[in-house]
Amino acid sequence: MPAQLNHRETRALFLALADEELPTEKARAVHQHLDGCGECQQGWQQYSSTVQRLRGVEREKAPPALASLVMTRVKRQRRFGLRGLHRMHLTHRFPVEVLIPLLLAAAVAAFVMMSS
Ligand SMILES: [Zn+2]
Repeated sequence: MPAQLNHRETRALFLALADEELPTEKARAVHQHLDGCGECQQGWQQYSSTVQRLRGVEREKAPPALASLVMTRVKRQRRFGLRGLHRMHLTHRFPVEVLIPLLLAAAVAAFVMMSS
């Protein structure tokens, strides 16, 4: 029987769950929480559909328009050092494929912070 997760723990695991990187037992614990918690369930659905959309984009080699849209969003969020990410992109010309997982992680962090 996996340990019960609270809201915060569940949400913190969304990224790993979406990447299918969670050990089975952990994934089961997350789903168990989601089954009994409408709020987290809704959050997870939003999160996973965002991830899927970004994955689709990744496959199509991230059109520049979307990349810059993401960057504009990032620029607007000054917390969590997201500005640093943007600067990294500009200065070091990191490819978007490298930045997307970082942006996702930052998005999850923002989501977790905002909703608790
Ligand atoms: Zn919950």
